[in-house]
Amino acid sequence: MNLHTLTIAQARDLLAKKEISSVELTQAFLDRIDKYDHTISAFITVDPELALEQAEKADRQIAKGRNQAFTGIPVALKDVLCTKGVKTTCASKILENFVPQYDATVVEKFKAQDAVLMGKTNMDEFAMGSSTENSAFFATRNPWNTDHVPGGSSGGSAAAVAAQFCAGAVGTDTGGSIRQPASHCGVVGLKPTYGRVSRFGVVAYASSLDQVGPITRDVTDAAMMLNLMGGHDPKDSTSAPEQLPDFTKGIAIFKDKGLSGMTAGIPKEFSQLKGIDPQVLAMFENAQKTLEGLGVAIKEISLPHTNAVVAAYYIIAPCEASANLARFDGVRYGVRDMDSQDLIDMYKKTKSRGFGLEVQRRIIIGTYSLSSGYYDAYYGRASQVRALIMDDFKNAFDACDIILSPVAPTPAFKIGEKVADPLTMYLSDIFTLSCNLTGLPGISVPAGVCAAGLPMGLQMMAPHFDEMSLIRAGYGFEQAVGNPVGLPEL
Ligand code: GLN
Repeated sequence: MNLHTLTIAQARDLLAKKEISSVELTQAFLDRIDKYDHTISAFITVDPELALEQAEKADRQIAKGRNQAFTGIPVALKDVLCTKGVKTTCASKILENFVPQYDATVVEKFKAQDAVLMGKTNMDEFAMGSSTENSAFFATRNPWNTDHVPGGSSGGSAAAVAAQFCAGAVGTDTGGSIRQPASHCGVVGLKPTYGRVSRFGVVAYASSLDQVGPITRDVTDAAMMLNLMGGHDPKDSTSAPEQLPDFTKGIAIFKDKGLSGMTAGIPKEFSQLKGIDPQVLAMFENAQKTLEGLGVAIKEISLPHTNAVVAAYYIIAPCEASANLARFDGVRYGVRDMDSQDLIDMYKKTKSRGFGLEVQRRIIIGTYSLSSGYYDAYYGRASQVRALIMDDFKNAFDACDIILSPVAPTPAFKIGEKVADPLTMYLSDIFTLSCNLTGLPGISVPAGVCAAGLPMGLQMMAPHFDEMSLIRAGYGFEQAVGNPVGLPEL
């Protein structure tokens, strides 16, 4: 048996039956990391000893009959989540040696069930990017074709799941960073409703947009992981007091009723967008037909402010980022630059040497847009546009249960292709940003492969706190198309 190909649900089953041990499973993933991660570069930190220690503990728990959903399951964490005693860098030089004193709530939840934490995955610095090329350390490569990016900013997590370096991984999504790398790597990525999962201990990028969520091999695993990660957290004042349902019920609903009675909206503005790869359009048409075949009614809807989405996001996110990143000044947080003349010089050198170019660009855009002379024209206006986008979605959901779109306008692009042209990189976020501006949940499910052999994902969006519909429809879609991408050969 190839232990590394097991999904979380399959591994859970075999662990519970004691047909495999967590140590064996963990070792199988560690062997793959050892063999292949020098080409993929998914991880910033791996601690094999710590992982095996956790696996041994999990096996002891299982022997005692203390078997929870994630006991003994090896998962990877994006390096933006604070892990007590384990380096948390946000892929930035400024946090290169930062070892947190505490765990993020999400990390605590995995530990409370004795999951095995395999390591910390690479990302765009402070989660700013769409390709994982903005890491201060190295770029991650797409396991399907190592000349291509894995997507970003949770590219390390998505690549680690696709390359079978872990059974599942945690990502964060501020403008698409769970869904887009999942799409590019042929795995499932679920961005929960804003407030569904605690952000406590997650280094902030843009606080009104950030959400934590699962990246997994299939929809069942995503439901299982959201069950574990979700729920109100008194330590995060923006976490929602909403009840946490058992998301695997979405699968049961599908098995019982299929998708009949469901209506999917197709935004008419999306067909007028330029620069969408014809293969992505073909995948999207096929996906609609598949869903129709499952009894879903397809309906045209309108999101009139689609053209303003990228502009609004790329003002609001940098504004919030500039406020959040002010703390990395070499005094409160961050590696202090020691060769400076005076305090101001120290601040300047710490920031210009500690932050990469994309992070500096965002801080400059953010501080400029928030400055007193420009606040109304930029941040104020972008916030008004955000309210209009929210209204668009509210109206659209009066007429449908889910909204469909591609995840990205093109399959994964080549490493280096867009780094010199940030605007083109920003435009590639067109389909994913709305979920964050509105707080809505969205899922990316593998839906096809392009001629170059790279996966393409379908995005489904649902009303606030209705992740259940995403699990139901995502699972149904997955059953109907089989495994359209499979697993990459490394
Ligand atoms: N690509 C977007 C950005 O660069 C989204 C990143 C994210 O979701 N963290 O801001």
